[in-house]
Formats: sequence, C-alpha cells, structure tokens
Amino acid sequence: MAPACDLRLINATIVTMDAHFAIFKNAALAIAGDSIVAVGPGADAYECADTVDCRGRVVMPGLINAHTHVPMTLLRGLADDLRLDVWLMGYMMPVEREFVDPDFVRLGTKLGCAEMIRSGVTCFADMYYFEDAIARATADAGLRALCAQTVLRFPTPDAKSYEDSLALARDFIERWRGHSLIVPAPAPHAPYTCTPEILRSCAELAAEFDVPLHTHLAETAFEVDQSRREYGMPVVPWVKKQGLFDAKVLAAHCVHVDEGEIRALKNFNAGVAHNPTSNLKLGAGIAPVAKMLELGVDVGIGTDGPASNNDLDMFEEMRLAALLAKGVSGDPTALPARDALAMATRLGARAMHLDHLTGSLEPGKRADLIVVDLDRLHNVPAFERDPDAIYAQLVYASKSTDVVDVMCNGAWLMRDRALLTLDEEALRHAARDAARRIDLFLTSREVSVLQKLVAVGGAIEQESFEVQVKARVASEAPLLAVLAGKAVTVVKSSRYHQYDTYWSFEDPDQGWLRYREDEFLDRDGKVAGARARLTLTGRTREAEFGAVLLFRSRYLAPAAHSARFYREYFRPAAEHLVEKDRRRWLLVYRGVEFYLHLDRLINPPSDGFFIELKSRTWSRRDAQDKATVINELLALFGTSPDDTIRDGYVTLAAGR
Ligand SMILES: [Zn+2]
Repeated sequence: MAPACDLRLINATIVTMDAHFAIFKNAALAIAGDSIVAVGPGADAYECADTVDCRGRVVMPGLINAHTHVPMTLLRGLADDLRLDVWLMGYMMPVEREFVDPDFVRLGTKLGCAEMIRSGVTCFADMYYFEDAIARATADAGLRALCAQTVLRFPTPDAKSYEDSLALARDFIERWRGHSLIVPAPAPHAPYTCTPEILRSCAELAAEFDVPLHTHLAETAFEVDQSRREYGMPVVPWVKKQGLFDAKVLAAHCVHVDEGEIRALKNFNAGVAHNPTSNLKLGAGIAPVAKMLELGVDVGIGTDGPASNNDLDMFEEMRLAALLAKGVSGDPTALPARDALAMATRLGARAMHLDHLTGSLEPGKRADLIVVDLDRLHNVPAFERDPDAIYAQLVYASKSTDVVDVMCNGAWLMRDRALLTLDEEALRHAARDAARRIDLFLTSREVSVLQKLVAVGGAIEQESFEVQVKARVASEAPLLAVLAGKAVTVVKSSRYHQYDTYWSFEDPDQGWLRYREDEFLDRDGKVAGARARLTLTGRTREAEFGAVLLFRSRYLAPAAHSARFYREYFRPAAEHLVEKDRRRWLLVYRGVEFYLHLDRLINPPSDGFFIELKSRTWSRRDAQDKATVINELLALFGTSPDDTIRDGYVTLAAGR
C-alpha cells in the first residue's frame, strides 16, 4: 500500500534550498501533519486526498527574516533621515516609554505578521519588550519565530530594572519552551546598552535552557571606537570575554568587524543577521558579508525594525544584499543570487539556530513554504539552459507580491493572496488610531524646549531662583586679597576650563539652552576630570535690585549625549560658543553663602577678568536682602556699579 500524507503540491518547480541546492521541475512535495515527508520524485508515491496544482509556480522555503523588532510597524515613518542616536534616543525610546504596552505590541505584531505573510516570510527573529504578547500574537497568526525578550541596563517599558527584565526573560523562556512555533530567548540589546553582568547573565540563561541568544553587535563605527577606547579591544573579543558565546548567539549587524572577529564568530558558531536597508538608512555602513560567507559564518538577512527600514519585505532585502556585495567589491560575481536566496532561507535558519526545523524543503523539516507565481509580466520569459537561472529570477526579478500561497508548520496562512489568520482591514484601522495618538504626544512635546528636554529622558526638571551679578574687573588682585582676609570664609574652591555652547530658538521666549563641558583642573592646571551638563535658562528677569538681577526658570539636566546630538535634536535657530577659564569659590559672607566666579574669557577674546556672584534664593524678600549683601561684596572687591554688565557672555559671543 502506498504511504499516506495530508497534502500534495504537484506540478511545481521545487527550489529546495537544501545543502546541494536541489531543484525539481514539474515535481511534487508531500506533507503529513506539520512536516514535509517527501520532496521530488519520492513524493509521487504518496497517496493523498488533498492536492494543489502548482503549474507555472515555484514552491520554495518560506523566507526567514533573521532580525527585526516586529511591533515597530506601528512606529514606521515616525522619524526618518536622522542619525542613529537622535533617532533612537530622541524619538523611538521616548515614544516607546509612553506607548509600549502589551496591547501596543500585540497590534504591532499582528500588523507585522500580516505584512510578512503577504511577502512570503514564514519565520522571523524578534527582539522587543513584552515579548510574551508578541509570541502569543505570532503563534495566533501561525508564524514561526525566535522571540527574544530585551534586557537593557536602564528601565524599559516592561521592566523597572535589569534584574526585573532578566526575571521576565527567565519566566518567558520557561513558559514558551517547547512550543511548536515559538522559540523563546533572551536579548541583551547591545554591548553599549548592557553591562558585562547583563551579557554574562543572559548567556547563562540561554545556556541553561539551551535556547539561542539574540543581540546587536558592532552596528556602527562609533560603537567599535568606544569599545576600543573603554576596553582596549573591538566589540567581538570584548563580548567573548564576558562569556556571551557560551550561548548560541544570533548577532544582528556586525557591520564593523575585522577578519579576526569574523573568524571568532565562526569558531563560536555565532549566526549573523545582515540588515542592508537598515544599515544604509541609518548610515551605519555595509557589513562584510562576502567575507563572512567565505569564512563559513552562517549569515542570514533581516529587515531590522520597520521604523528603520521601513518595511518587512525580504524580497527587497535579499536583492539589496546581493547588489551591495557587488557594488562595494566592484566584483559582479560576488554574492550570486543563489547565495543571497540561501541567506534568506537555509543560512538564516542556521544563523537563528533553527535549521533543524526550517530553512529548506527536506523530508523531516517542518512544512514552512511559499508558492510564487512566475507567470507575472516582470517574471517572463524564463530560460532553461542554466539551471541556476531560477535563482536570478527569484532574487532580481520577482517581487514579494508574486507570493500567492504561504504555509507554516503545515498550515495555510495565505491562499490566493487572501490572509487566513488575520483581519487586514481591522489592523489598518487600529494602526491608524495608534499613529494619531503618537502624533498628538509628539506634537505636544514639541511645544517647548523644556518639554523636548524632559521627553528626551534623564532630564531633571528643577526650577531654581537665583540672584546674580556680573562685573568686569581689570585685575584679580583686590579680589584675591579679600579672599585671603578675614571678611569672608572660603568653604571650597575649584578650577575649570569651560566650553559652553549656547543655543537660541526661533521663539525668544524659549530662552537659551546651554551645553557645558567642564574640565576640572588640578593644582597644576592639568585636566583631572570632565562632565557635561545642559541648562535651560529663561530670559525673564523676575526683578532687578540695582545691578543685581533675580532670575528663575533654570532647568538642569545631565548631558548624556554629545553636543552634536542635542543640536540635531533641538534644531536651534542660532549657536554661540564661549570658552573660558573659571576659578570658583564657595564663600560665606555675613552668614550668606555665595558662589564667586573669576573668569578669563578665551572666546570671545576679552581683556581683563569677569567676576560673577550668585546665590540661590527662595523669595523676593530673601532676594532683596541678598542683593544688599552682594552690593557690599562688590564694593569690597573694588568694583563699582558702573563695572557691572547686564548680559551674559553669550551676548558678547553673539556680538550684541
Ligand atoms: Zn535591531
């Protein structure tokens, strides 16, 4: 009696993508339950009630998207053409902090799954927050995925601390382990957003449950420079030192790796996800994939998150991978179409450590496959002479819209381009709703520089009032004499070299935003340390007591990013630079604490010195009293009210 199966696809061109790149023409493929039981001539022997005629069509493995953040479909088009840090820290992370919850990721995942099924993807590697909800939505949609729960060193939408997110990852892995479609994993986000301890703990967790580990490695040249500066070595050896490769690693990007690092990736059996569109769009560079393949690394292809791509189209991605490799090497034989398709199928599965399940059409593997219509205008004609021509056809000419049927784990997810597990119309509607809410949030925060400062994270909203006076002095001698005498008590003193960048805005009421880099100088005038701070100063003077002014609205924030980051994020109307040497004393005079600054301006260049006296205050009455004391001090320093200047250094710098 002939063996039985549940379904037979017949009369197909079967592109198996197995290790021998076997192709069967006018052939059949037999499926029983969730698995492939026979491919090619052997499949004819199977008896089966259900048959699908695939004349004029290619049956091939479902494509594998080896790296994405699928719920970010809801953030695509939100902020584009920005540098990676401004895009990530200025827009993505603030919006994520505000909006990302289980409902958000569920909707984003369904939308992403619908898009991926439509374009022939049957398996993807994800990394995001609330991964449990993502896994649930993915399993309901019927797709296969490596779902990796993100762990970062700072708070995330789903965890207050990294200990919490590690616990979350453990719990998630325990609950989803052994699922027919979902492989759970931990995802230490990247070396620069994790601590050595997080990398180690995640690797241990992955090894304990024998699941893969998903991460980002060496995405930008900046990341590698930073690693060299801080640890004296590039990214791959450093994470190796933290024990990361004790786990089965899937590393996204690896754009900036040298040959030694590529060999290390190979030795540790780490898979790489190449993300050509995302790397190009964010200006990260082009990964040396031809070299990686030559050295035997398993390199898959990923779209990365739809906020940096902006779609999940793997046909586009594999075509770009092939073209880029030729373009950068000047060698048209580099990364032929067949290898690009292998990256998007079997090698992607290997990179994800899921090749025992999927990635090629072979008996024993799960029935994850797609049917591609080669009868479309742009696919015609086709040649028979070169058996490999089919690969060029699929990679260079075919489009994701040529995919007509999609099957995953033996179940149809799309037939004749109709989705069977998801409601497209409802998803479109809900996604537009979500976008409206996000638009509103971003619009409201753009109202003021302060709101933008708070939104970028880490900003301490701290309003303070202070009385202050600035005066020009020809010599420092009288002042130093007073400090050496008995009239004032010096509590502490310090010395700095300060670089101030002042930004002003179209609307002058926004005030000035100052980015200050302080270099502490030791007794010998050598740099002993540095810090950077942001201060937003309102322009309004609350009151004037002679030359002494009362200011308010100063908001301080530690400057976690570079001046360049803030310039691109705030887009000021004008910028002015001030550089000075500052000696600073905390002193007590008549029971009142003052800060005294003695400044020598280097830029804009200026003769003599400036002194600045300031004190925190709480009420107008207190300010009035302190103003009186300040005037006495000025007299002691030999300064007359005529020497005082009303405006700050920035006004000098601005030439006003
Ligand atoms: Zn990514």
